[in-house]
Amino acid sequence: MGVTAIVGANWGDEGKGKITDHLAGQSDFVCRFQGGKNAGHTIINDYGKFALHLLPSGVFFTNIINVLGPGVALDIEAFVRERNELLSRNVPEPQIRISDRAQVVLPYHILFDLYEEERLGSRKFGSTKSGIAPFYSDKYRKIGIQVADLYDEERLISRLNLALESKNVLLSTFYKKDTMTAEEIAEGLKPLAKVIEPYVCDTLELFHTALKENKEILLEGQLGALRDPDYGIYPFSTSSSPTAGFASVGAGIPPYEIKRIIAVTKAYSTCVGAGPFVSEIFDDQAHQLRERGGDSGEYGATTGRPRRIGWFDVVATRYGCKVQGATEVELSLLDVLGYLDEIPICVKYELDGEQIDDFPVSAKINRAKPVLQTMPGWKTDISGIRTFTELPDNAKKYVETIERLIGFPIKWISVGPRREEMIKR
Ligand code: GDP
Ligand code: MG
Repeated sequence: MGVTAIVGANWGDEGKGKITDHLAGQSDFVCRFQGGKNAGHTIINDYGKFALHLLPSGVFFTNIINVLGPGVALDIEAFVRERNELLSRNVPEPQIRISDRAQVVLPYHILFDLYEEERLGSRKFGSTKSGIAPFYSDKYRKIGIQVADLYDEERLISRLNLALESKNVLLSTFYKKDTMTAEEIAEGLKPLAKVIEPYVCDTLELFHTALKENKEILLEGQLGALRDPDYGIYPFSTSSSPTAGFASVGAGIPPYEIKRIIAVTKAYSTCVGAGPFVSEIFDDQAHQLRERGGDSGEYGATTGRPRRIGWFDVVATRYGCKVQGATEVELSLLDVLGYLDEIPICVKYELDGEQIDDFPVSAKINRAKPVLQTMPGWKTDISGIRTFTELPDNAKKYVETIERLIGFPIKWISVGPRREEMIKR
């Protein structure tokens, strides 16, 4: 298949880690191309249950090369912690490569994230406080630090000093906190730079060579289309593009090489953090689904926060699949709905008295209300089923109705959190 992008069609947490791990067995490379340790990709395999944050989901296979591309926000401490955790849990040493052009999350990025959410109080965005927004702001303000800078002390100190000229004013006068020096930050980075040195390389060359050799490459997106800075629900978006289009940039793969784009969507909706969420449900209905959802309830893999819950949203998912340019769709967590007599899905939005099919711009979405249609439930455990034909009729109908309404082919149906719990259509 060459290059496959695995990306989210919704708000994130669609189960991208699970399908990446499922498909990784037949791949040579798995690459994270954007975002940072704010990701939480849950994987359950023979080694146990893991929530991967920065590491690509191919780390459980010793023959796979796991790449952190230049588009990633590299928090080196988090990286080292995560790698050590894998090793301490008997996962064999994974093969890892880090782009020499990736930029580094610095201590002040995390502090600014924290201080800003504190300052905003009730107006906060629900950041994971991993420093992601300050990190990407600095990258595009051209005051970021690339991995290669870590190995040139003079350049590192001078780049940090440039950034600190404005940071320290903000720290002392705006947030009323302690200032920092370039020397202390550089000192803290020194041992970290040493630890990652063996992994650092030119990943563009690595991929171009791999493509010549017809290697299989998986590009693993973080979050989902509705968190994209351009196409998502702004400003409740993330700060890097989680789209298959950006995968080309963030990994360093020619765009025409990405032949297959698997957009992952959940059989119901979840959303972490603040912002409009049209098909949201509340109280007991939400509680029931939250407790039964995921592998052990719908709680953030990174933050432990309870996820907001909603019915499947056709309008948002069709839009998400378009934003991703999906060539196929995975419908995940279908097994979770097996307890319901009837399953509502949001088929349209009502906006200012009109029923609409297209996802509204951020300025209007707050006024959108869900138009629900109800499907009959199947009331059985489907987690042991491995072929589409064996699914109960009502489960088949649910999949086929969603497929028809979103207008993208559902090729994969995930019926449980474990690696093998998957139906290929
Ligand atoms: P990601 O961020 O897209 O990788 O998704 P997360 O790992 O954050 O959230 C998905 C949650 O659903 C995790 O708890 C997974 O273990 C779980 N999960 C994934 N696929 C399935 C599935 O088909 N069925 C069930 N029951 N849980 C699943
Ligand atoms: Mg997640």
